[in-house]
Amino acid sequence: MEIAPQGDSNLLDKVINLAKRRGFIFPSAEIYGGFRSTYDYGPLGVNMLRNVKQAWWNAMVQRRSDIVGIDAAILGPPAIWAASGHLETFTDPLVDCLKCKERWREDKIDGVCPNCGSTQFTEARAFNLMFKTQAGPVEGEGATAYLRPETAQGMFTNFNNVLAATRKKPPFGVAQIGKSFRNEITPQNFVFRTREFEQMEMEYFVAPADAPEWHKYWIKTRYDWYIDLGIPVEKLRLYEHAKEDLSHYSKGTTDVEFEFPWGFDELEGVANRGDYDLTQHSNASGVKLEYFDQGTNEHYTPYVIEPAAGATRAMMAFLLSAYHEDEIEGEVRTVLRLDWRLAPYQVAVLPLSKKPELESVSKAVLEQLQPYFMCDYDVTQSIGRRYRRQDEVGTPFCVTVDFDSLEDESVTVRDRDTTAQTRVKIKDLLGELRARTGQR
Ligand code: ATP
Repeated sequence: MEIAPQGDSNLLDKVINLAKRRGFIFPSAEIYGGFRSTYDYGPLGVNMLRNVKQAWWNAMVQRRSDIVGIDAAILGPPAIWAASGHLETFTDPLVDCLKCKERWREDKIDGVCPNCGSTQFTEARAFNLMFKTQAGPVEGEGATAYLRPETAQGMFTNFNNVLAATRKKPPFGVAQIGKSFRNEITPQNFVFRTREFEQMEMEYFVAPADAPEWHKYWIKTRYDWYIDLGIPVEKLRLYEHAKEDLSHYSKGTTDVEFEFPWGFDELEGVANRGDYDLTQHSNASGVKLEYFDQGTNEHYTPYVIEPAAGATRAMMAFLLSAYHEDEIEGEVRTVLRLDWRLAPYQVAVLPLSKKPELESVSKAVLEQLQPYFMCDYDVTQSIGRRYRRQDEVGTPFCVTVDFDSLEDESVTVRDRDTTAQTRVKIKDLLGELRARTGQR
């Protein structure tokens, strides 16, 4: 029986607490009192975040012949960011509350100070979100470097390199996953908005005339990706930006939005960037970034369709939508109904007792599964408590080794969602789990 449906007003706090207690996400530098709005991913969180990124890479690179990956540098020279428009326009409007002196992003507070309720503010100032640093031992303008605020520019600056190396032709894409940094004025809502975060971006280069069709295609494809990984349809929606709200580079942007506890908010932006980026970098660098179409014998600058997602923000959405409380045999349990591809552990191997003969069979079972699944191994506490601990972190399958296992060479497979238990021969276990996860 479901007792805490979505819409629970404490959902955010419950997920934050679970994340800390069970090792998904820790506040950073906690022993020094914390460092505002930075987070560390713990033993379970690092598995899950990798799984989110792997699911994206699988859909966007592995299963496609038209998209390749890169991994570009985080540090870059000012020239990149001058050409991309970030030095000039990557700003948020900053206001100070005249009463309590707190600083806010003007476009996020509806004219009322969230801290003290005052409606009196300073004039808005443009605050650049880029993190500036020095590269090398010399100080001064020549040594200025920036941490990238998005991964996208690495795909544009490498356009010719990728074309030459791969012989791709439009329509084709370049994908990248990596850290980005923005000096956000008001980082908030757990890992929703942080100053250091991870993005999953893909630049899809197309003939200009085909851009509107591809834009539609990518909006649908990206929406479907979240649904496929278990976000309920009613928690997801598309939001098309009004023309006057578009970023400086965009000819049209539609966001995939998720219903966070505070309302619908952006998970991913899918933009038609036109030829803005390649043209800007061609002009600024003097290196032509074009495609030569041998069919028509013409050079042209491709348009770019960009689905830009946040890995850390997506992980938060997956956690929020997976969190459930239900009642099993009169007892309340917390269960993360994560898709098996995202769960930190897919299988937990649980010997019923610490007796050496059980442990040795259990270890053999564990080693049989480890090449194929991320596995946990737990011998502490009662078996019921161990099931609850696995439910709480979303482990889809528990494999219990008991005294009968020594005789019948079988184990019990328990399903997280139904709690149904099935006896399976050890020699058939791998095949059984692969079949249950849709793998052959
Ligand atoms: P916002 O308007 O919320 O500041 P944005 O529209 O500038 O965000 P994009 O530049 O489109 O965001 O970035 C693409 C994706 O990267 C976002 O949809 C989000 O998932 C992620 N992202 C952006 N900024 C942050 C951040 N500060 N913390 C975590 N994830 C972020």
